[in-house]
Amino acid sequence: MDISNAYLPGAVFAPPDGDGVPRVFIAPQRYVQGDGVLAHIGRYLSLVRVRRAAILISAGGRTRHGRILEGSLRAAGIESVVRIFGGECSLEEIETHAQALGAERIDCVVAVGGGKCVDAGKAVAFRIDAPVIIAPTLASNDAPCSALSVLYTPAGVWTGVEFYPCSPALVVVDTGIVAAADERFLVSGMGDAMATWYEADVCLRNPGALTVLGARPTLASAAIGERCAQTLFEQGSAAAAAVASGTVNAALEAVVEANTLLSGLGFESGGLAAAHGFAQSFTAIPATLAGYLHGEMVAMGTLAQLILESRVDEARRVATFFAHVGLPVHLGQLAIEAGDAAALDTIVTGALGVPFIYNMPMALDAAILRRGLIGAHELGLEVGRRAGDAPYRRLHS
Ligand SMILES: [Zn+2]
Repeated sequence: MDISNAYLPGAVFAPPDGDGVPRVFIAPQRYVQGDGVLAHIGRYLSLVRVRRAAILISAGGRTRHGRILEGSLRAAGIESVVRIFGGECSLEEIETHAQALGAERIDCVVAVGGGKCVDAGKAVAFRIDAPVIIAPTLASNDAPCSALSVLYTPAGVWTGVEFYPCSPALVVVDTGIVAAADERFLVSGMGDAMATWYEADVCLRNPGALTVLGARPTLASAAIGERCAQTLFEQGSAAAAAVASGTVNAALEAVVEANTLLSGLGFESGGLAAAHGFAQSFTAIPATLAGYLHGEMVAMGTLAQLILESRVDEARRVATFFAHVGLPVHLGQLAIEAGDAAALDTIVTGALGVPFIYNMPMALDAAILRRGLIGAHELGLEVGRRAGDAPYRRLHS
């Protein structure tokens, strides 16, 4: 059971001589978002010409959404086979579902859940050669729209990324379901989404930078990233308040689109840089991995990236926003002791091993990354003190 390397986009799009790398933009075929849209998924699936669908969903998710989901498919004349997702996007779990579905004449996989269930659904659909339909139940990550899965061991340790030849055929985001989830998930998604613009901007300005697709960014992906950040600055606080009270309003709709569609398209076709490089390396600290969400780590990584770029005013603006909505702005808020030299060594060494961190335009070494991280931490301490009356203070300091 190996990670499939058959569709590494860099090997497809990059010219063999390394010259003249093209611009590439990819996206799901259709994106539908609104309050209550999961109840209409059967009708949307008429566009994909489905007769028999596999549904990948957790046991809890089936209890909450199964009746509506299966009822909608039945009403559209679509048979369904339910597979219960065990919680980890591991090759073991993926192969179990793919083998069970192999003889079922399935013509699409509908993955309903958080980022790991969504990524597992893409991997299962690829193995049984069927299109994948994504119905995220959280707006905490940018997995739903991309043509890749992040894979882990059954114990939850990151093992790699698998790329697919096709993006999802349909993404259906029910904002009523997202609004019913814990506010922390939406806020974490804002941390992941805010990085999109700053990373895409670095890749656009650095002619040597390559996107996740191994290609050059398009103006479209840069515009999407910029609108994503603008939406968060303008409506992020109101959207967090909406989720805290379980209501769907215009601000929530805007931020769910930013977290899911804009962030998803922006990261995949616009490129990653130091924000995600740091975020990935924070997972080497056990207390951080155990206690924090991906977007919370990306938030701290974004501040460190801006300090690396010497954009202190922009870092202060972003940190003020993060402190207000309840995202980490200093290392203590990720359970990392700023004076712990061994922990900082682990983080910067890890970050230097992440390929896309070299999309940054400057030379990088351990001392430079450490200065960026500590600079962001100190700025965050200062901003956090001034934002002491912020309405959302769930993170311990
Ligand atoms: Zn991310």
